[in-house]
Amino acid sequence: ERAPAVGRARAEIDLAALRANVRSLRDRAPGAAFMAVVKADAYGHGMIPCARAAREAGATWIGTATPEEALAVRAAGIEGRVMCWLWTPGGPWREGIEADLDMSVSGMWALDEVVAAARVVGRAARIQLKADTGLGRNGCLPGDWPELVRSAVAAEREGLVVVTGLWSHFACADEPGHPSIAAQLERFREMVSFAEGAGVRPEVRHIANSPGTLTLPETHFDLVRPGIAMYGISPSPEIGTPEDFGLRPVMTLSASLALVKHAPGGLGVSYGHHYVTPGETTLGLVPLGYGDGIPRHASGTGPVLIGGKLRTVAGRVAMDQFVVDLGGDELAAGDEAVLFGPGDRGEPTAEDWAQAAGTIAYEIVTRIGARVPRVYV
Ligand code: PLP
Repeated sequence: ERAPAVGRARAEIDLAALRANVRSLRDRAPGAAFMAVVKADAYGHGMIPCARAAREAGATWIGTATPEEALAVRAAGIEGRVMCWLWTPGGPWREGIEADLDMSVSGMWALDEVVAAARVVGRAARIQLKADTGLGRNGCLPGDWPELVRSAVAAEREGLVVVTGLWSHFACADEPGHPSIAAQLERFREMVSFAEGAGVRPEVRHIANSPGTLTLPETHFDLVRPGIAMYGISPSPEIGTPEDFGLRPVMTLSASLALVKHAPGGLGVSYGHHYVTPGETTLGLVPLGYGDGIPRHASGTGPVLIGGKLRTVAGRVAMDQFVVDLGGDELAAGDEAVLFGPGDRGEPTAEDWAQAAGTIAYEIVTRIGARVPRVYV
């Protein structure tokens, strides 16, 4: 009996690759500070180890969505600047001030809450005003910007806030040449000018996500804020491949086959019998399922490297397991199945899984569940 190669399953996280990706992204934006975006557990890669590795590679800022994530970064002893941008009413503003977070403010309710918290703590809150320049999601629209800016300036004069940044986020930067990119940039410049004219002296102005950092130098301003590229994944196939940008995928997802069995022809495989063995064959059981974040939409399409050959998910992905037709190859329980990785051993990439499941690679890595141990190498 062969020893299991990898336990049930594991997501190997190559922190050296992450550090190299950060350095190579920094080289593309030499005049700008670097914010490592580690929200959603660092897109599934593990927030704290990735934040530390990014810091080692020169990221002076860490960015998260929720304040809870930012506070967890601080609780892990990570110093330097930490910014978070997805606040809801009643959020932990006081804790944020005490933890020296840079806190994004998108509207008047948030400014009111952060000012009230600053009065209680007795210390100015670091805030960054977020402009909706055309994403149509979070951020302050141009019509509401004057009131927000003037109120922030007034609070700054009272010593209750320091406006450390003016910032925005792109809608279509991953579609080369999309007209909204130039439109958003122009609006960003106008909104920044207005704020500066009203007395804001921002330390950083920023709008560039991964596509901006990789392909649009005119978007770099004072700071770039890439997420997906740091994890070695291209923001979209239209932008290019990771190799085009000297990026290396950080996560490798693999599992040990839980069972290999000889099967007759005509055997219905997995729920719904959407796959029927075309003849005598061997079937391998991969102990990963949608409970681990393997997309059920990849039923019948997801690629897996087993025994040196690319195979395909046979039938439906179930909660904890799926089956692969090994085509009669004599493999054994314990043999390794690689779902995705950098691709240099012939394994599929997260992009391949995204294509198989009709989604984006962001979702593939981010949804790999807590049941899969992250192993840092
Ligand atoms: N900035 C903000 C506000 C975000 O929400 C995100 C992620 O969606 C990023 C930056 C990083 O984007 P990307 O992963 O495309 O580089």
